[in-house]
Parts: sequence; structure tokens; C-alpha cells
Amino acid sequence: MSDKPHTLRPRTIAAQALGAIEPATKAVALPVHVSTTYIRDPDNQYRTGYIYGRPDNATVRQTEAVIAALEGAHEAMLFGSGMAAATGVVLALPPGSHVLAPEVCYWGFRDWLLHEAPLFGYKVDLVDFADLASVRAAMKPDTKLVWIETPGNPLWNITDIKAVAEIAHAGGAALGIDSTAATPVFTRPIELGADIVMHSATKYLNGHSDVIAGVLATARDDKLWARIRQVRGHHGAILGPFEAWLLLRGMRTLFPRVAWACRSAETLAERLSSHPMVAEVLYPGLPSFAGHAAAKKQMKGGFGGMLSVRVKGGERAAIASAARVELWKRATSLGGVESLIEHRASVEGPGTPCPPDLLRLSVGVEDSNDLFDDLDQALRRAHNA
Ligand code: PLP
Repeated sequence: MSDKPHTLRPRTIAAQALGAIEPATKAVALPVHVSTTYIRDPDNQYRTGYIYGRPDNATVRQTEAVIAALEGAHEAMLFGSGMAAATGVVLALPPGSHVLAPEVCYWGFRDWLLHEAPLFGYKVDLVDFADLASVRAAMKPDTKLVWIETPGNPLWNITDIKAVAEIAHAGGAALGIDSTAATPVFTRPIELGADIVMHSATKYLNGHSDVIAGVLATARDDKLWARIRQVRGHHGAILGPFEAWLLLRGMRTLFPRVAWACRSAETLAERLSSHPMVAEVLYPGLPSFAGHAAAKKQMKGGFGGMLSVRVKGGERAAIASAARVELWKRATSLGGVESLIEHRASVEGPGTPCPPDLLRLSVGVEDSNDLFDDLDQALRRAHNA
């Protein structure tokens, strides 16, 4: 591998997976390294950097290198899931640390922060990151981590990364960001001041709904990053080599996949905004959306492939509409090549900030006319039922 790829543009880095070639055969697709252990030298040294498979795997490292390059990061670390990556950041903090997190974010992590992080001695407060004064006011002397998610699932609230980075750093805290929905295609949070970027790589990075994976990328090699590495190793929260290899393959088409999803999401957001059975469309790319100006500032080239619609007629009409789609897949998750629809409140349950009339749409790479026609017939049939 040349040491030049970081000078190349991200789309080129992704398409060629950093241009790596397998040295023995000159193969352009790398093999999967499966060995769990490596030979020690006769003089009792390990010189290759590979000792044991839990921390050391060449396929995992190659995939991490591609993600680090896409994020403009010092380094990346893969985990067995997005949840393992996000919880790994908190578990790396000193016991008793205070964490600020968003009111609206991936519900599984919010649930863990509220109900499990305190069992480990962490103190957590949720705030509305659109209100910077209340973010400032919520900072405490022992706040060690400010966690944001933008666009924030499933309402797609936008957080001003640069402004929050300044607040976090002024208070001596690190800024961690779940950038799953933005993808490295549209946002590079480290350039805006984030310290740790997290992705559920299950979603857009892999893109084919066949791998569960998570990743963290760091701005620098510091004490927090060293602790995160220890936590991953001690908890065994690693990604297996086959999953890492699939992820490496999936990322080669990250840019075209995400570009198509985004283009279709923009079209659908516009067309659904004037649909008679739709009360509101939540999409950062719509000029009427509350966070549009902030999104425009920090999302380059597009606003992503995720949107939500609030259906006229409330929860019953929303569930009935989801029940009538024929092309969209009625399933949880997001970021795959196939479009998914979900009544989000049913998944999140009591305490969700998600309105009951909301359907979350993950737009895939299908023809947007087919996607619109299917939603249109489902909304109309549900209305007439
Ligand atoms: N962050 C976001 C925005 C998500 O949508 C998800 C999963 O839906 C996660 C984190 C958790 O990722 P994983 O399912 O890979 O653990």
C-alpha cells in the first residue's frame, strides 16, 4: 500500500479501499485473515505487531484504516456493533463522570445511558442540543463527555457540531458524535471539532443489511483513546474478520449508494410534503425544516437518505399505511440498499420522544418513482380503509 492515499479524495479512497493489494498474489480484493494466533520469533519476540486475534487481525485493521481515512481521523477501531462502540466510549471514562447526551437520539443508546450507565456510576443528563444556552447550563465540573447525534434519529434534529465542540472543550469534556445518519460522505465531524466519531457500521458504511458492526474514529491518540482500546480488549467487544471483510467490501460503493439514497430522499421529501395524507415531512434538506440552516453549514453535498413523515389521522393511520406498502420493506434498521419503513414509536415504546403518527423512512437505491408510487398507494388505501 502506498503512503499517499490520504491525499486522495474520500470517494477514491472508498472505491479502492485505500488501494491495498495482497502482496503474495497481487489480488485487488484482500483475503480474510482468520488466524486467532501468530508465531512468536525464536528469540521470544513478536515483531509483526500481531500476537493474538482478539486485538490483532489484519482484515479488521485494513477496514479500520479505510474508515480512519474517510473520517480524516488519526485512527479507527471496529467493534461488534454500534452499541458496543458507543457504550465503549462511556465505559472508558473515569468512574463517576458526568455525560451530556441528546433528548432525541438512537433510542437503544439513550436507554442504556439512562438505565445502565448509572449502574456503572456514570451520571447522565439529556438536553436539547438545538438550545446552546441550555447545553452550556447543563455542563458540570465533572462533565467528561458531550455526546451528540446529528441528524438525530428519528426526528433528524440538527446539532451544530462546531458550536457544541467549543462548549464541550471549554468545559474540559470530549465531544463524541454518532454520525451514522450523516455518513462520512456528507459530514466530517473531526474537521468541525469532534474528538470521537461513531458509526453504527451496520447501516450506511456496510450498506447491505447483512453485517452488525460499530466503529469509533479518533481525532488524536490520547488518554481517552488508549482507555477505549483497553475497554474493547478487556470486554472482547471486537468485530470478527468475516464481518470486517464484508464491511470493507460494502464501503467500496459507499459514495454512489449514499448519493443515490440522498437524491431519492430529497425527491421523496418534496413530493410527500404536498401529499394530502401527510401532515409533515421531517428532512434536514427541506428549507422549512427547523435545522435546515445548521445542516447546510455542516453537511456538504447532501442531507442524507433518512426522513420521517407524520401521517394525517394519527397512530392508527400511520400503522395502517406501513401495513399496506408492497415495495418498501417493513423493518427496523436503516442505510441499506433496500428502502425500509417503520412505525418508530412501536419500537421505542413508552417514554419515546417520537410522535405516534411518525413513520421513519430509510431510502435505498431503488427508483424514487417506484418508491413514491408505493407510499402513495399505501397512504391512500390506509386512509380509505
Ligand atoms: N446509532 C444509530 C443512529 C442507530 O440507528 C443504531 C441502530 O439502529 C445504533 C447507533 C446502534 O447500532 P447497532 O445496531 O449496530 O448496535
